[in-house]
This record gives sequence, C-alpha cells and structure tokens, in this order.
Amino acid sequence: MSHRVLLAGLFHETHTFLDGRTPLDDWTILRGDELFSARGDASPLAGAISVADECGWTVTPTIDMRATPSGTVGDEVLEVFWEGLSSGFADGPFDGIYLVLHGAMACENCPDVEGEVISRIRAVESLADLPICGVLDLHGNISRQTIEETQGLISYRFNPHTDGHQVAVESARLLEQIMSSGRRPSSVWAAPSVMWPPTGTGTDDDPMKTLETMARRIEADDDDIVSVNVMGGFSFADTPDTGVSFAATTFGDPEVARTRLAELVDHAITHRQQGNVVDPPLASCLDDVDRHIAAGETPVVLVEPSDNIGGGAPGDATTMLAAFIARDIDGAVAIINDPESVQAVTELDIGDSVTLPIGGKTSRLTDGPLELTVTLESTSDGRFTLEDPHSHLASGAGLYIQMGPSAVVRCGGVRILLTSLKTPPFDLAQLRSQGIAPEECSVVNVKAAVAHRQGWDPVTAHTYTVDTPGPCSSDISRLPFERVNRPVFPLDELESAGP
Ligand SMILES: [Zn+2]
Repeated sequence: MSHRVLLAGLFHETHTFLDGRTPLDDWTILRGDELFSARGDASPLAGAISVADECGWTVTPTIDMRATPSGTVGDEVLEVFWEGLSSGFADGPFDGIYLVLHGAMACENCPDVEGEVISRIRAVESLADLPICGVLDLHGNISRQTIEETQGLISYRFNPHTDGHQVAVESARLLEQIMSSGRRPSSVWAAPSVMWPPTGTGTDDDPMKTLETMARRIEADDDDIVSVNVMGGFSFADTPDTGVSFAATTFGDPEVARTRLAELVDHAITHRQQGNVVDPPLASCLDDVDRHIAAGETPVVLVEPSDNIGGGAPGDATTMLAAFIARDIDGAVAIINDPESVQAVTELDIGDSVTLPIGGKTSRLTDGPLELTVTLESTSDGRFTLEDPHSHLASGAGLYIQMGPSAVVRCGGVRILLTSLKTPPFDLAQLRSQGIAPEECSVVNVKAAVAHRQGWDPVTAHTYTVDTPGPCSSDISRLPFERVNRPVFPLDELESAGP
C-alpha cells in the first residue's frame, strides 16, 4: 500500500547580528502542488520528491519557504509556515513526515525555529507518534530537542555543500525504510560547546575533515547506526544552541550511539583552536597579488569572508574594490549588490559614463559607498543556470538563479558586476552569463568563506582569504553575544578541554 507522507520545507540561515530583520516579503513561498515544481532541479526538495516518486508515496505537499541568508526573521514568517503546514493535516492519516530544513533559522521571539516546529508537530495528536525524517544544512545550530524528537534528520556531509540532493535522497529512503518495516530508530545528540567561524567549517580542512572521517567510520563500524551528523554550526547567530553539534540515528541501543558521539565531542574540543580560523588583513597580500599578475599566474582569487553573502552579509562591501581601483589592476573583477546603481546605469546607453556612489549602502560595519566614474558595458535580466548541478548554490536555490536586473560597468581596468539581488558567488556561470570569463580575470573579489571553492578552485592560480570590515568577519569573539549558552569557545576557555 502506498505510504502517505506530509512534506514541507523551511530554509534560512539567520545572521542575528545584522541590522534590520527579514520580513515575509523576502521569502520565496511554494504552496501545495507548487512544491513539485522543484522536481529535477538538483535541490534537496527535488531529492525528496524523487524518492517519493520512486517509492510511490502519496504526498501531501504543504509549504516550502526559503530566503537568502539575512538578518533575524520576523515572527510572522514562522506563523505563515505553520499555517501552510497545518493546512495539510486534514489529508491524514499519514505514515510519515518529511522536512527540508536548514537548521539555523531564528525569529525575533523564537531562537530555535526548527525545534519549535518539531515541538508543535508533536503537540498535534494525529502527528505525535509519526516518524519525522528530513535534511539539514551542515551549518545548522541544532538543539537536542530537534534531534531527539525526530527519527532521521540527516545533514550534508560536505562544505561546499555538493551533496544536498544526495543527502535528501538518503533521508527520504530512511523514512521509506521506517514506514515499510515498522522499525523505529532513535536519534541522539551531543555538542562540544564550541563555535567556529564559517571559514573554519570547510570539510577539506581539519578539524571538520577528520570529524567527517570519524563519523563515516562510526557508520561503517556499527550496522545499527544509519547516520552520523557533523554540524559545523553557524556562529553569526546569537542563540542558545549556536555552535558545533553531532547527531546519530540508530536502530540499536541509543547509549552505544551516545558513546560514539562522545569521541567526536572530544576531538572537537581538543582541536577547537584549529577551527577558529581568523584571516589576515587585505593589505598583507596585495604585493603578492601584483607579483602573481606580473608573472601571468592568474586568476588570483581574493576571498572576503566578512562580506560572505552565503553567511548573510550584504555583498556590497567596497574595501577590496577600492584597493583594485587604487592600484588600477587591469582585468580585476568585483561583484557588488547595489540595486540603486543598477537602476542608475541602465538608463544609460552602452559606452556612456556616469559618476555615482557604488556599494557600501546596507551595513554600518562596512566602509561605505565608493564614488566612482564608470562606463556601462552591458545590462541583463540577471538570470542564469548553474553550470555545476552539484554547486553549493543548488542546495539552497536549485538550478535556476536570479540576480535581478544586472549591469557590468568599467572603471579603468576594473570591471564591476552590479546586481539587484545578492547572489552567493558559488558558480562560475554567474560571471560567464554576463560576458566575463572567470579564467581571463586577473584578480577577483569573491564574497564567500568556503562554499566558492567547488566552482573557483579548479580555475584559480592563487587564493588568499583576507579580513576586511564587514558583518561576517571570521573573528567571532568580537561579536556581542548575549543568548548563547556559556561557557562556549572561543568566548570562554573550556575547563574540561584537552591540550
Ligand atoms: Zn551551509
């Protein structure tokens, strides 16, 4: 008999230290059968739908809500999600629930949105005992409640997130296994009281690399343990549960799984400093950049985590652009999100010039606008299709991306792509679609931390990750935390820590 599954998605990484809030208007909302429009688009939602199709589930699609990482979410967004989810309850009874989640969403009066959603579901009599499975981003700040009241929320294994679709498929197959067999796994949670900046959460580098290896070994060692999550957490959020956490789902003894998670906790505490990656200042690399360009070793990528769009930053910081222009670096490229400037230049003819303030308009933590005289090279509607379906961007947005109306302008030898919707620079089609060949750039300002690597590393000659003024600086000890559970590294020393 066909299994009946309630399906929903809620996806946001909330930077609670940003000015302003994220209102309902900023969200892309799919309702009912609109969720099926994700079919085949490489997103986690598409992964869940593919298993539903394969297993012949009768799905009640309710609501999918997602927004680009940004500031604290208005409380009304949670209520709209809950109304959307509740609208499906009448279709029951169900055999299971599948959720596409991020894990680091925070509303004004609800710092643990995912935990709140789970607890509301469990309070509905007809849903109280149903298996809940789903997918989490590796950057979720996950509470014990979220894990221990569900049966299989599985997180991405890679950062950059090349496996969002695949993990969604695996967690949906787990739900099918639970519904078919009637056997119920338990999930257990543990956390080391450690926060790492996004730059410290790449899975090609330690400590995440070793933690992922240890987690896969636990899965291989113990036939009962079906998944082990290594969550890097999202440190730009002042919530009680912010930080690194682990989870295991097992058909066996939960205490055995807890013992295995303790190994991960120990490793994270012992190697806590390794994940606390703080970047050198921009000025420290500029002479090296000149030398590389003179030697033809290009493109050079200058990674700017403080304006990491994927971490919620505005994507309009001008510090690096100012350095390119001050040195008039021929072939340099920066991408600045600035809808006002796009509008101002699209009134021009191609080849015309205008003087206007560019970027620096949305965060008091950046350097402010840069007054430039620029020449218009091209305009577009800003749509592009990912060239890499396993791009980190696909895990949040699917294959088809919209930067809004966009324009390429030139100032001396420096080109600037101006966008109207901030767009994480994770896929090379972003520049290529605007007539800029990434391979031919001399130096590129990439507003990211880690997730750009999948796209950029194969074409890059040299990479420098540097600190500039901005809201996503890797030095998290400077942020004014008030709500996070203490003690927590790096705000406090850990008494029980190893060497
Ligand atoms: Zn992430």
